[in-house]
Formats: sequence, C-alpha cells, structure tokens
Amino acid sequence: MKRIVLALGGNALGNNLEEQMIAVKSTAKVIADLIEEGNQLVITHGNGPQVGMINLAFEAASKTEAKTPMIPMSVCVAMSQGYIGNDLQNCLREELLNRGIDKTVATIVTQVLVDENDPAFKNPTKPIGSFYTEEEAAEMSKQGFDMMEDAGRGWRRVVASPRPVGVVESEAVRALLESGQVPIAVGGGGIPVRSTGGNGLEGASAVIDKDFASAKLAEILEADMLVILTAVEKVAIRFGTPEQEWLSELSIEEAERYVAEGHFAKGSMLPKVEAAVQFVRSGPGRRALITMLSKAGDGLSGKTGTVIHA
Ligand code: ADP
Ligand code: MG
Repeated sequence: MKRIVLALGGNALGNNLEEQMIAVKSTAKVIADLIEEGNQLVITHGNGPQVGMINLAFEAASKTEAKTPMIPMSVCVAMSQGYIGNDLQNCLREELLNRGIDKTVATIVTQVLVDENDPAFKNPTKPIGSFYTEEEAAEMSKQGFDMMEDAGRGWRRVVASPRPVGVVESEAVRALLESGQVPIAVGGGGIPVRSTGGNGLEGASAVIDKDFASAKLAEILEADMLVILTAVEKVAIRFGTPEQEWLSELSIEEAERYVAEGHFAKGSMLPKVEAAVQFVRSGPGRRALITMLSKAGDGLSGKTGTVIHA
C-alpha cells in the first residue's frame, strides 16, 4: 500500500460555484479509482478562484451601506477550505459508496505555520482581489493593506507568499489516514498562521502555495509519493517554444539545473517542480509525480507523467 499526498490543481475544481459542482464529480472518480487500487490518500487542493471570490464578496460588501469590515486573508482561506472541502467530501463519499466502499471523507480546517522572518513578508508580491485607483489604493495603504500597481491595469492588494514550515493539524490528518479514512487537508495551501510568542497562533496576511504546503505535509506524514495533478500531462523544458520537450523523468539534480535555467514559469510550474524536489530530498525512496488529473492512474502505473526521483 502506498501512502500518497494528492494535490489537486485549479482544473479539478473549476472557476465558480457551478463549475465546481461539475468538476468535483469527475475529480471524485479519479480519486476513487486510486483508493480502489489500494492506495492510502490524503487530498490537498488549491483555492485561487475561490479565495478570490470570497475576498471580492467581502470587499464589495464593505463598500455598501452595511459597511461590513474587510476580512483578513487568513479568514478567506479558512472559508475556502470549508466550502471546497464540503463539495469534495460529499462527492467523494458518494462515489465511494457507489463502488461499495464505506470510508469517511473529512475535511480538516488546517493551519500552516509560516516564519514571520520569511523574506516574503518584506516583499509581498501576490496580487489578490479587485483593481483600485491610485487614490483608493492610498486610502487602503493607510488602513494597513499592502498595495501595488499591477502591470498598468490599476492598483491591487498584494500579500506575501511565505514558505510553509509546519502543519499544525498534521497528527489529526495522520490519525484519519491510519484508521482508513480519507482526509482532505491544507486546502489552498493552508490557513497561514504564526506564533504569538506564547501558545497562541494568529492569522498571517499571506497565502501559501498549495504545492509547497502539500510537499510539507507529505514530508511530515512520511508519504511514499507526492502526486501533483494539474492541467498538463508532463513537465516540459523550453515550454511553449518550437523546441519544447516533454520530460518523463527528472532527477533532483536535473530539476535544479532546469529551475536555474528558467524553464518553469513562476507561480505555475516552478512551485510544483520546487515542491517535488523538496519532498524527494526529504527522505530515502521518496518520489514525486506531476501529471494531468485525468491521467493520474496511468501516471501512478508509470505510463505517463513526469516522475521526480533522487
Ligand atoms: P494548478 O492550478 O494545477 O496549480 P497552474 O496553472 O498553477 O495549475 O500550473 C500548471 C500550468 O503551468 C500548466 O497548465 C502550464 O500551462 C504551465 N507551465 C508553465 N511552465 C511549464 C513547463 N515548463 N512545463 C509544463 N507546464 C508549464
Ligand atoms: Mg498553481
């Protein structure tokens, strides 16, 4: 039996409520196939469109008569975990029951520790939410938000994207896993938190990359594999050029060389390759697979995808 952390990308969930209802049904089939084959799975997922939608809704409400206060990013992530997890756990439970498999599927509202000295906090770069005029942006800066001009399109809120250093609820995830249940965890990269100095934790104004959070969880749970399911079947070098070459396998040394040569786009393929390398390096025999959602089974049986190995 293989212990696998399975990270779902945007295409597994769609871009809005309606798309998510449909997408999650086929995603559940892919996951159920892997469970039927005897794998022990932890599901993780991204939340880009969902957290954007939640953030925008609160932003819009704050501009109405109701003057609802803006809510911190960490709260938006928590809401997205609940909403996405709910859809996933319902669909997957139903799909498993249809196959005669009776397993509880449960979402863990997961907090992920970040280091307050992470250099990312000094240089927030991830744009979120809507566009503002320069005057509005100046007003928001006074309220404590970090604002940045976004490629000539207007001003936007930016948040830091620090690296995860720990998963607060990892032992709860392990307990579910080891009792044969299917946990969903670190949704959207997890709720970013930092220590208050004592025993407390407080939300950090940040978003954590789901690929890095998934790698960290896989490392803590001593998984055999990190599987990142996305929109492409394999990782390529010289991506999008006439000399593009799809890769079936990558050693960590090759991966690092290609990273240094700039073959992987920031914010999309780069974090996946870096997260894969980080996980593979964390223990002997560990492997990572990057492939397309619909090819997960073929990827695990070695027929396709890009395998990253030591
Ligand atoms: P996800 O929602 O699954 O995290 P992303 O859009 O963030 O998906 O990242 C996957 C995308 O990365 C692919 O659909 C592809 O367009 C893009 N990409 C960038 N560089 C590469 C590369 N070198 N090889 C393959 N895909 C790449
Ligand atoms: Mg992504």
